[in-house]
Amino acid sequence: MARQRWWLAAVLGIAWAGIALAQGVGEVVLRATLEGRPADVKVLVGQGEKVVGIHYSPTASPGIVRIPLSPGTYTLVVDRGAGFTRPPVLREVTVEAGGKVELDVELPLGFSPAQAWGYYAGDPHNHSAASFDASTPPEELVAVQLAADLDLGFLTDHNTGAGHAPYAAAAAARGFPIVLGIEITAFRWHWNAFPVQAYVPQIPPLVWMGVGSPAPTFAEARAQGARFLQANHPYWPGAPYFEALGKPYFDPGFELVEIANGPFEDDDARTIEKMFKFWNEGRRYVAVGASDAHDWKDPADPYGRPRTYVYVEGEFTAEKWLDALGRGRAFVTYGPLVNLTAQGWARPGDTVTLKAGEELRLRAELVVAPREGGRGLALAQMVRNGEVLREFALDGKPEATITFSDRPTASGWYIVRVVATDGDQAWTNPIWAQVN
Ligand SMILES: [Zn+2]
Repeated sequence: MARQRWWLAAVLGIAWAGIALAQGVGEVVLRATLEGRPADVKVLVGQGEKVVGIHYSPTASPGIVRIPLSPGTYTLVVDRGAGFTRPPVLREVTVEAGGKVELDVELPLGFSPAQAWGYYAGDPHNHSAASFDASTPPEELVAVQLAADLDLGFLTDHNTGAGHAPYAAAAAARGFPIVLGIEITAFRWHWNAFPVQAYVPQIPPLVWMGVGSPAPTFAEARAQGARFLQANHPYWPGAPYFEALGKPYFDPGFELVEIANGPFEDDDARTIEKMFKFWNEGRRYVAVGASDAHDWKDPADPYGRPRTYVYVEGEFTAEKWLDALGRGRAFVTYGPLVNLTAQGWARPGDTVTLKAGEELRLRAELVVAPREGGRGLALAQMVRNGEVLREFALDGKPEATITFSDRPTASGWYIVRVVATDGDQAWTNPIWAQVN
């Protein structure tokens, strides 16, 4: 008898707790539109200084975000563009126990000139839950990338293509162009390979340990169709492939170098220095930037930042984006946008042929996204062969055009580096000057 009453009390207790919980939790239903049409968004829920949740509209129902919240007042940061294409919309909501708050948010028009310049954004290194260390469902990665206003989606899980099918199906349903890849992950070194379909790389033990030639692994990726091999975070202490530079087993057979991987840190700066040396030696590796994001709900791990913008002539397709990437027609950015040209026609990746002493006329249009709290352009540098030729103070303006002319006496290369007032940076790939 006593035992039965204990059970009854427990069951009633659990039921009571369930009802209390059901009554205690409210819901925000947010509908986001852009030019009147449902738009994929990321919603960061803040309370005071704390981020209490990150939500997205599902890939299958763009623009509709359902957020369960306990009673209280919250700030919703509704983001489309990840600080690259438009500022976020902020909304304050008060949720009552069991209550429902309906919110319609019309996103501001994008200000980004990138597409008008012919540049399209991709994030060529990121992960889904198919990776052992990531949480983003592959089918929801599409919504995450659309909410970041990426024009081209990538998926590069660690040594697996298990996420490819659900990601590709979700992308096809949304008409979102994608490139499938893989991050060949050895304990000591990491490379991205794309485009490839699912395969499991065979990685010899010496490569795992970082003391053997990756040539067979590279060859295997090529046999799987990989047009690009990318040296990922090559000075990150966890997988520093460039520490192998100069060793007999170092294989230079990659095309792309990740100069910016996630938050900008010392190892990224070291990679940029190394790239300057490669370019000075005439080794035309292409610089890319990628988020290497793993966790869609981690506020410190945003997808799409940094990213790589690639110049595509005419109508945008994934194929043309990859072609142009291979030619180095790209810039890498955490926020600022750069349209660098020489002689009015040459872009990064192009070669301008000059007679000795002939004038090279460089011009760069610069823009940075507005953000809450405001930000602008701090400075730009014109860099030749790794040396800063001139620094331009930009006084916090949201946009600027810089011009510079040089009369090189020897062949070399030119890039622009831009820094925003919040420290966000961008780097172009080189325009090459061939002096005869
Ligand atoms: Zn990696």
